[in-house]
Amino acid sequence: RDPVSELLLTILSQNTSDVNSGRTFETLQRRFPSREQLAQAGVTDIADAIKSGGLSQIKAVRIKETLQRISAERGNLDLNFLADLPLDEAKEWLLRLPGVGPKTAACVLLFSLGRPALPVDTHVQRVARRLGLIGERVSAEQAQHLLEAVVPRKQVYEFHINMIVHGRRTCHARNPSCPMCVFRDICPSAPAFLAAYAARRQGGQNT
Ligand code: SF4
Repeated sequence: RDPVSELLLTILSQNTSDVNSGRTFETLQRRFPSREQLAQAGVTDIADAIKSGGLSQIKAVRIKETLQRISAERGNLDLNFLADLPLDEAKEWLLRLPGVGPKTAACVLLFSLGRPALPVDTHVQRVARRLGLIGERVSAEQAQHLLEAVVPRKQVYEFHINMIVHGRRTCHARNPSCPMCVFRDICPSAPAFLAAYAARRQGGQNT
């Protein structure tokens, strides 16, 4: 997607599933086929178009504010210029938009523009902590800087996706599947989880 679409989708994805926000985004596109039409629409009309996605009033205000800010700063609704800015400047530019935090800025830069910015969501943060790539108390924002510094630029996208897949399929928030994990022999968190796993199994056999 183009960067403005990515930004809109991120706003729509708050407090709902990816499937639902994707559908809501398609509905919004149909209702307002051009970005200019959307920017000129009233908050009530935008909220009506996105009501299936939840929190529609709040999201409508944010969409309106975001488009107005882009238009005021750039004179148009095109963010492709961010592809040519140094990465830190591109991030700073996006962070000035209402409601845009480091993760959203990184999503826009990575997914829309192929820049090596690394969004750190809950899965990336958890898996990175357990693998010892970041410390226990490192925030998501700090993790973004630390991981961007060590992940090769060409592998940032792959790294991001694989960390999420690993977090969803194996390194779950509760009861990670360490016995099945490809990292179990090198992961510093594995011994404690494996011991707890063994204790649970033992407890189950004794009852
Ligand atoms: Fe996560 Fe366990 Fe794998 Fe470590 S060994 S990455 S804690 S599932």
